[in-house]
Amino acid sequence: MTQRLIIIVLSLALGLVSGAFGYSLLSAKRQAKAVATARAEGRADAEKAMADELAALKPVVLTKAVNAEGKPDGIHFGYEYVKPKNAELEPFYKLAHDGDLLHQLPEIKAIDGMLMLPRPIKFVMAECREPNAFYSPERAEVVMCYETMQVLLERGQQLAKDQELGVDYAQKYLAANLRFILLHETGHALIDLLEIPITGREEDAVDQLATTLMQRFAGMNESSRQVSDNLRMASNWFLARSTGAYNLDAYADEHALGEQRYFNLQCLVYGSNPSRYLGIVTEGDLPETRAKTCPAEARRVSKAWLRLLLPHVAPKFEMTEEKANRLFEQRERERNRNVEVPYVR
Ligand SMILES: [Zn+2]
Repeated sequence: MTQRLIIIVLSLALGLVSGAFGYSLLSAKRQAKAVATARAEGRADAEKAMADELAALKPVVLTKAVNAEGKPDGIHFGYEYVKPKNAELEPFYKLAHDGDLLHQLPEIKAIDGMLMLPRPIKFVMAECREPNAFYSPERAEVVMCYETMQVLLERGQQLAKDQELGVDYAQKYLAANLRFILLHETGHALIDLLEIPITGREEDAVDQLATTLMQRFAGMNESSRQVSDNLRMASNWFLARSTGAYNLDAYADEHALGEQRYFNLQCLVYGSNPSRYLGIVTEGDLPETRAKTCPAEARRVSKAWLRLLLPHVAPKFEMTEEKANRLFEQRERERNRNVEVPYVR
């Protein structure tokens, strides 16, 4: 019953982003190193648990358009796991490579082959000598650094410890952030390759795309609540290094400040279903003054990305905006039904 899915499409576009995910993560790395040693023992368990979690995400099955027989697929992505030289990163390589992690991410899987790209996007996991993730326009590569996995896991472990969040929190935190960051970078790739028109900051646009993709293409065993939890873990990362004190470089940066990206993401989650996510406002994670405009903002963002991407959808998946929205709704209902098991296993 899980397997009747749907699909659609999205895409984006523009280019050149390096140093990409918004922060130089160098100081996060230094910070993380300090706690890494003490935590090294727990890491193997955390990695194993995350591998289990990823394995539990059922593959996304795309339903072809009704008249899709004989119509071509879009361009498929490439994937590569580069073996690191730094032995400290070996566990992350092993986790990614042995579990074929990139093929387990529901959103990437959902859009793989859906779009008519001028050249394939290649997803690469590699050692970078610093925590980072970026899109390389020259190579059409989206790169995730093992060092970023390391700092994300350590951040998740620290949060779990500080807030007594449970044994599997750290790996959930890692998985949620990996998904968001890779989709953010995929947004840069799509803007570049498809020459998608955007105004305003590209960094904001691709945060919005990543959010939309995670809401639309979550795993079929993930409830709406889990999807919003994933997005809120991603927004937490925006705050990870913030001290609240910025210099001119920060204000001049192509990225909004971490706090602004945090609230923008809360706004899109809350706005997607204000009654379901009212707690975001009542618990103080989103000021009421901003919350008022979020339903309209969330609708506009979601619709805009759908309209920008639909013209690039492969013939096999072609559909109208109305049909795409119906399929998204159907898919969300199925996801929620799949996780509402009315008995104890
Ligand atoms: Zn970016």
